[in-house]
Amino acid sequence: MKSGNCPKCKGRTIRTNRENQYGEDHMYLGTVGITAVRCLVYICCDCGYLEDYVEDKKALEKIRERWARV
Ligand SMILES: [Zn+2]
Repeated sequence: MKSGNCPKCKGRTIRTNRENQYGEDHMYLGTVGITAVRCLVYICCDCGYLEDYVEDKKALEKIRERWARV
């Protein structure tokens, strides 16, 4: 997705919230501790497939400690 290709439908109409101003159109992954975790999102506008990335290293550390292992 980050390269502009959809892994599901091979579409190339990918959009991201990367350039949006903070607090505008961002998606949040609930809360980790007391902090809402901002997600960098990529969406395929052809099939609707969506990828989320948490870029906050401290939040990732908390998630690693608290969430279930897959
Ligand atoms: Zn797609």
